Amino acid sequence: MLKETKEVNNHLKLFIKKDFIEFLTQLTSVSKLYLRQLNFWAKFFQNRCLLCGIPNVEGYFCLSCAREFSNLEARGYCALCGKVYYLPSVHLCLDCQITPPSWHNFGFGCVLKGKFQQILYEFKFKGDFSYLGYFTDLLERTFWEQKFVYPDLILPVPMSRTELRKRGFNQSLELAKSLAKRLGTKVKHNCLVKRKDTKPQRILNKKERQRNLKGAFEAKQKSLLTGQKVLVLDDIFTTGSTCREITKVLLQHGVRHIEVLVLARAIS
Ligand SMILES: [Zn+2]
Ligand SMILES: [Zn+2]
Repeated sequence: MLKETKEVNNHLKLFIKKDFIEFLTQLTSVSKLYLRQLNFWAKFFQNRCLLCGIPNVEGYFCLSCAREFSNLEARGYCALCGKVYYLPSVHLCLDCQITPPSWHNFGFGCVLKGKFQQILYEFKFKGDFSYLGYFTDLLERTFWEQKFVYPDLILPVPMSRTELRKRGFNQSLELAKSLAKRLGTKVKHNCLVKRKDTKPQRILNKKERQRNLKGAFEAKQKSLLTGQKVLVLDDIFTTGSTCREITKVLLQHGVRHIEVLVLARAIS
């Protein structure tokens, strides 16, 4: 009886030992499989074209999707408001000759049309942030190409409280934060506030736009603005009424130098 009990105990020990080793083996193979799967999905999502999703793409888009943007770079435009010309020439438009804006430099990343308009609207109205890196590239390239002065601070065009609550984020602030990181400068979104709700500018004519924005912006923290070089940043520039109104307020608060950089120029 004693002998039998000893044997069972030995078997039991062996069984437990064997099972444990098997358990360890299984665990290792499971984690290997898990790692392999993780690797697969990482590769699956990496370097894919943001528009069509094909893999192994250099940059943000594949060659065929990138072609959709290539004809959107303006070759002729007004140097101060970006009004797009059909002829490849850079000169001041009639509006800017008659009433020149008070900013010192102007630049835009792309013309607002076609695929670019589509992805910008997906970012702005649907909160799709996957294009933010590409948009920042465009802004940064324009900044250097147009020889912008290095700013003391970037001021994104503000939204009113109601507008911000509706959308959930300010697209210009997101662009400004991303660009500021690249340039190594600061974003001061509290220096400028929008204190009244306005109608969307795109549904108004030029006169109505000016009236709509009158007194809409207010500069705060004057001490941070006086004597500064400021870069005003917006997502879309149409007639320039917003930037003109903001420039007026900033100059009243002692800003020394103003440049305007926008992601897209609407064709007016
Ligand atoms: Zn593609
Ligand atoms: Zn112009």
